[in-house]
Amino acid sequence: MIKEKYTKNILLGEIGEEEKSKLLNSKVLIAGCGALGSKVLANLASAGIGTIGLIDNPDDCNTEQVVSAQKWIEKHYKEINIKTYNEKIDKTNSEKIIGEYNILVDCFDNYQSKFLLNEYAVKYNKPLVHGEAAENYGHATVIIPHKTPCLACLFPNTSRDIKLADEAAGFAVNAIGALMSQSAINLLLVIQDDLENVLLTYNADDMKLEKIKLSFNPDCKICAQQGAISR
Ligand SMILES: [Zn+2]
Repeated sequence: MIKEKYTKNILLGEIGEEEKSKLLNSKVLIAGCGALGSKVLANLASAGIGTIGLIDNPDDCNTEQVVSAQKWIEKHYKEINIKTYNEKIDKTNSEKIIGEYNILVDCFDNYQSKFLLNEYAVKYNKPLVHGEAAENYGHATVIIPHKTPCLACLFPNTSRDIKLADEAAGFAVNAIGALMSQSAINLLLVIQDDLENVLLTYNADDMKLEKIKLSFNPDCKICAQQGAISR
C-alpha cells in the first residue's frame, strides 16, 4: 500500500518492488535547509525515501522554511521519517550523524560548510551530491570518495567566505534541486549517474546546460589525507 502510493510519485520509468523497498529503507541526510534544501526535501519525500535527516547551522537555518516543509511532509507522507538536527556539523558530531545515512546531499548556502561536509564525506567514505543555486545560475555534481574528484579538487581556490543569498535563489534552484534529487535516487538504486566526474552547470538566462569533465587534483589535501590519491 505504502509502496503503491510512492510508485505514483516516482517518475523514473521502470521501478520494481525491490527498488521501491530499497528507497523506503534508505536514509538520506540533507545538509542545508534553505531554498535548495527545501526543494530536495520535497522531491525525496515524494519519491519515497524512508528516512530523511535535515541539518543546518542554527544561525543559517531558515526555521520557518524547515517547519513548513516538515509539516507538509507529515501531512502528505506520514510514513516518511524526518529527523532534524538543529546544530552545526563539526568534528565532535560528524561521525555519529553521517554514519546514520547512506548518502549526503549538500544544499548548504555557504562554502565553509560545503567544504567541511566534503571533507567528512571523503573521510567517512559517503557519497555526496553537491549543488548550489543562486539567481539564474546553478551547478551540481556527484562525489564518490576515492572514485571521483572531491569538492576541494574542483574548487581549490574558492574562498570559504562565499555565502549564497537564499532570497536570491531564482528559478535555477528548481532545476538544480531536481537534478540533485535524481542523482540521490540514482546513487541509492546503484544506477549509473551522469554527474559522476562531471560538473553540470545550468544558466537560466539562456537555458544553457553544460557538462564539464572533472579529474582529481593531484594537489588536493583532502583526497591526499584520506588516501584517495597518492602523492
Ligand atoms: Zn579532492
